[in-house]
Amino acid sequence: MTATAPRAAVTLTPHPLRCAACDQPHDAAPTHVCPSCLGPLEPRYDPRRFLPDRAEISARPRSLWRYREWLPFTGRPARCLTAGWTPLVDAPRLASALGVARCVVKHDAGSFPSLSFKDRVVATALNAAHAFGLPVVGCASTGNLANALAAAAAREGLDAWIFIPHDLEPAKVAATTVFGPRLVRVRGTYDDVNRLCAQVADRFGWGIVNVNLRPYYGEGSKTMAFEIAEQLGWRLPDTVVAPMAGGSLVTKLAKGFGEFLDAGLVHGVPPRLFGAQAAGCAPIVRLVHRGDDTLVPERPATIAKSLAIGNPADGRYAARAIRSSGGWAAAVDDPAIVEGIRLLAETCGIFGETAAGVTVAAARQLAKDGHLTPDDEVVLCITGHGLKTVDVVAGDVRIPDPIAPRLSEVSALVSANGA
Ligand SMILES: *Cc1c(COP(=O)(O)O)cnc(C)c1O
Ligand SMILES: [Zn+2]
Repeated sequence: MTATAPRAAVTLTPHPLRCAACDQPHDAAPTHVCPSCLGPLEPRYDPRRFLPDRAEISARPRSLWRYREWLPFTGRPARCLTAGWTPLVDAPRLASALGVARCVVKHDAGSFPSLSFKDRVVATALNAAHAFGLPVVGCASTGNLANALAAAAAREGLDAWIFIPHDLEPAKVAATTVFGPRLVRVRGTYDDVNRLCAQVADRFGWGIVNVNLRPYYGEGSKTMAFEIAEQLGWRLPDTVVAPMAGGSLVTKLAKGFGEFLDAGLVHGVPPRLFGAQAAGCAPIVRLVHRGDDTLVPERPATIAKSLAIGNPADGRYAARAIRSSGGWAAAVDDPAIVEGIRLLAETCGIFGETAAGVTVAAARQLAKDGHLTPDDEVVLCITGHGLKTVDVVAGDVRIPDPIAPRLSEVSALVSANGA
């Protein structure tokens, strides 16, 4: 059963698709698997299309749609018009702590509306759902995608079915249910949830944003690369460190930097890309380290639940993108993740979630092992807000005993502090 909304108002056309593995072309459709070889489908762009220059892009509204010629539609986007354009902030104290020349933070923990980079991929996926006339949307989520889709669906007045593993952080569940979607908690891992959603997409004809709409969803991640290049003053950094779950973000960062080079908007060499995962779920890191092309699925056991995908859909492509950029990958254990959250907070004033802790701890490991050098400018992709995983630091920070509202008590604290 495929429900179809009235098409009259739709002035948005999704690009046709091609198979990333065997190159076979496909019509635009809510589908993600090549019927010939089962490879992933991706949008096809007309190489002769109009491309704007720096001045034209700079004059456009500050959202991810300022890069619309590199997003998989022709016509006007209809939904999520304000997503993207998060701050890029200099982090000199973190650079000293890591021992690198310069460190900048891409602050998607401050993303509108749901405080993670998943607002970018939801923006492109929901426009695909709109263009295909799909009235019901859904997702399989490790938490942040649930927040992002529920928020966007509420704003657009869409019916959303959100599938999550049963053991997500309470804050991520609350930050989904508050928007009023249909939330389905599944007894199983993310990989079980994802398999179920593939069946749901087939059976009900819904637009599952990271399953059958995945070719359009993934392209939203490229905008993080575009923004980094523009916000650095139209140039490329030496290195980028990014967290990996399904492996889409890191793959699309490589694609995005490459597209800006091809368009002549930036010059030089593409950045070395570094992928970060938790040691308790690091199938892509281990694939990069082994250097072959066969991903070995894992059963996740880590506090970094947003990254806990044991059988990542884009894992092989992520590993290839990392290796061909001249980068590397690192896995960090749970105590190091908490230290990473605290290092980011104490040196940058930015509170990131567990995925941010993974990224910072991995950067530290990569610097220690000489993969990031004292000459490098390092961009850290901070992809989700710390208030979503506050429990992992709550046990680690000392909460002071209360005092009476008397100056003498403050004086006692000040002298005890050695002031
Ligand atoms: C989803 C997610 C990622 C990585 O996602 P990919 O599936 O690899 O694109 C990174 N950080 C956070 C916080 C996420 O929610
Ligand atoms: Zn194919």
